[in-house]
Amino acid sequence: MRTLAVIFYLVLIPFSGFSRFTTLYPDIPRIDVHAHVHNNFGGIANYLSMRELMVSTHKIDLAMWINLGGESAIDTINELSGGRIMTCISDYSPQRGLTYKPGDMAPSLRKGYVGYKIWHGPYHRRLKEGEEGIKYIDDPAHEPVFAAMEKEGMPGASLHISDPNGPFGNRGNWAADPVAFWREIIGLERVLHRHPDLILVVAHGAWLVCQDAQLDFLRYMLSTYPNFYIDLAATFQYFYLLDHANLRDFFIEYPDRILYGTDIGSLADKSAIPEIVERYARTFRILETDQMVEGGFFSMNPVMGLNLPREVLEKIYYRNALKIYPGLESRMRDIELLN
Ligand SMILES: [Zn+2]
Repeated sequence: MRTLAVIFYLVLIPFSGFSRFTTLYPDIPRIDVHAHVHNNFGGIANYLSMRELMVSTHKIDLAMWINLGGESAIDTINELSGGRIMTCISDYSPQRGLTYKPGDMAPSLRKGYVGYKIWHGPYHRRLKEGEEGIKYIDDPAHEPVFAAMEKEGMPGASLHISDPNGPFGNRGNWAADPVAFWREIIGLERVLHRHPDLILVVAHGAWLVCQDAQLDFLRYMLSTYPNFYIDLAATFQYFYLLDHANLRDFFIEYPDRILYGTDIGSLADKSAIPEIVERYARTFRILETDQMVEGGFFSMNPVMGLNLPREVLEKIYYRNALKIYPGLESRMRDIELLN
């Protein structure tokens, strides 16, 4: 019997998906800054169940989420989540003009919104063929809103400004044309250049994480624009495209500018909770261990773990978020995540 148990642990577990990753850092709270809870109230209960399962199975304290939408229900979301979900105002079709106006920024901050989510991926994902609209994030039409955000201290929350553009021969389907891709990226740089005090968290590593030279451009952007930050949402599945030492070096070099995020959806289906827990656990294993991890949050391209030091992890998991999202620090004290 004992022999069987030993065989099970030594042979079967590593290949079965049962291998239990237990974090070395149960005391570090983690904030997912890129969550699409929106106003799905059933989903909020599932988020809280997921949180409990994450603690019991992996000792991981997935403490809070930044919700990129659902703003009409902010009070209910605060109440149902016990304060663990903070909400942003949002725009998912800015190609047809922004919903929120310059005068909305200060009142929105007073109401407790923590950022303005703007989805500005490739315009052909929002505009029909031949339809007129705003193509790039640096369009003059957006300028008054960015100026108001800059003046009032409204952070850009997980701005989506392009789609992934892989290396030649493996461009991927999202932004296969490198010229269109770089027009979108340069549009972002113009916004940062025009608004030096605007705090922008740009989603998905600004999609400069699919080629080693893109990572170098990201180094240039972070070195040049001190209020520019990136989140890691949906990037883990592209790490295999990058040189491992280069990527690890990048994290060690810019720990103050990187925020943890996943792009998790509304989690309306309760039966999906165990699987989502494992998907989260894989992202933490990639950041924390030197193991070969079987995939990221979305896809199953194996990734060698980055084995990041504790000081780097603390910043990525929550310390950087504390500097950016208004009211987060007092919220963390309220729910006893900080002393
Ligand atoms: Zn997203």
